[in-house]
Amino acid sequence: MGIPHPDDAIELDTLLIRGGLTRSNYGETSEAIHMTSGFTYGSAAEAEARFTGENPGFVYSRYANPTLDIFEQRLRQIEGAGGCHGTSSGMAAVYAALATSLNAGDHVVASRALFGSCHVILSTILPRYNITTTFVDGDDLKAWESAVRPNTKVFFLETPANPTLALVDLKAVSAIAHAAGAKVIVDNAFATPLLQRPLMLGADIVTYSATKHIDGQGRCLGGAVLGTSEYCTDVLQPFLRHTGPALSPFNAWLLSKGLETLSLRVQRSCDTAEILADHLGDKPQVAKLLYPHHDSHPQVELGRRQMYRGGTILSLELKGGRAAAWAFMDAFKIIDISNNLGDSKSLITHPTTTTHRAMAEEDRLAMGITEGLVRLSVGLEGVNDLLADIDRGLKAAAAHS
Ligand SMILES: *Cc1c(COP(=O)(O)O)cnc(C)c1O
Repeated sequence: MGIPHPDDAIELDTLLIRGGLTRSNYGETSEAIHMTSGFTYGSAAEAEARFTGENPGFVYSRYANPTLDIFEQRLRQIEGAGGCHGTSSGMAAVYAALATSLNAGDHVVASRALFGSCHVILSTILPRYNITTTFVDGDDLKAWESAVRPNTKVFFLETPANPTLALVDLKAVSAIAHAAGAKVIVDNAFATPLLQRPLMLGADIVTYSATKHIDGQGRCLGGAVLGTSEYCTDVLQPFLRHTGPALSPFNAWLLSKGLETLSLRVQRSCDTAEILADHLGDKPQVAKLLYPHHDSHPQVELGRRQMYRGGTILSLELKGGRAAAWAFMDAFKIIDISNNLGDSKSLITHPTTTTHRAMAEEDRLAMGITEGLVRLSVGLEGVNDLLADIDRGLKAAAAHS
C-alpha cells in the first residue's frame, strides 16, 4: 500500500533505506558505527576552524556524530521536517521539546490520556519551574478551547492515546492552539512516522520514542525531536548540546537499521492487527474493541482521515473485569505479557495493574481504563498462530464473562 509522504521526488521505501546515507572512505555497504566520543584535527588551525564552524566537521559526540547524522537525516526526510535531533530515549525527546518551548510562568494544555512519564513531567516536574498544565479530554475540542489562558504557550498531546486508542483531531486542535498563539507538540510514538504526519496536519514539533517501532526489535532505547530547521538549529540543538541527553552512536546505528525495515514491519503488523480486530469484534466475551480503523471505534471517521492505517496496537475490554482479562492473558502460549509495545514480538498488557496502576481509580475510569481492558501490541508472528492464541485466551475469559 502506498503511504503518502512529503517528498514527491523519491519514494518513501527508498528514503527508509537510503535517506541520510553517508559512507566513510572505506565505502562500506552498511552504515558505519562511529563509536567515538571525540575527533582529532590535522593542525591547530584546523581545530580552530572546526570550532568556529568554518570547517563543518565533527568536534565531540555530545554535539554531533556521523552515525547519528544518518539516523537523524533519514527520519527527518521521512517526516518531511526541517530538522531532527536524536536523543537517548523517548522521554529525553519529550522533555527537550517541552523545556525548549516553555519559560517560567507559562501554561500548557494537554490531553489527559498520556504516557505515564509525560504526565509526570507536566504534573510534577514543570510546576517546580512555575509552569502549570490543564488536562483536558483530547476528543473534546471545546475543552481545548476553554482551557486556554493568556499565558498558554504549548498544546501537548498523544494520538492514538495509550491504552484506550482515543484519538485527537490534529488539524482542529492545531488550529485552536495557533489561534491562541501556542505551539503544538505531538508525541507520535503510537502512530509511528509512517502512519501519521502531525507536521502536515498543523503540529509544530513531533517527538518519538524510537525504542518502540523504529527499533521495533526490543534492543535499545532512543528518541527524536523534529521541527522546523530554525527551531532545531537555534533552540533545540544548543539545549541538547549543553544538557547532554545524547544518543549512543551504537543505538543510532540500530535505529537507522530499524528504519530500513520500518515499513515492512509496521505494514505487516497492521495487516495482522486488522485480521485480529475483525476476529475479536463480534465475540461474546468482548464488551468493546478499540482499533482506530475498525468500524466499532467511536472516532473511526477521524481515524481514517488522519492515520494512513489503523496501527499496530488494539485494545479490548473483556466482559468479566480483571478475572476475565487476566485469564485471557494467562492462556496465551505465544503472546508475551509485557508493558512494552511496537515490538516484533506480540505483547499484551493489563494497564490497570501495571502501566496505569499509579493513577487514582476515578481518573483511570474517566479515561476508560477499566479492569477488563487489555492492550495488545501486534507483532510479526504468523497470523494463524496468533489467532489460535487469541482463541485460547477467549476460551479462558469465557469462564468469567
Ligand atoms: C514509550 C513511550 C514514551 C517513552 O519512551 P522511552 O523511549 O521509553 O523513553 C513516550 N511516549 C509514548 C507514547 C511511549 O509509548
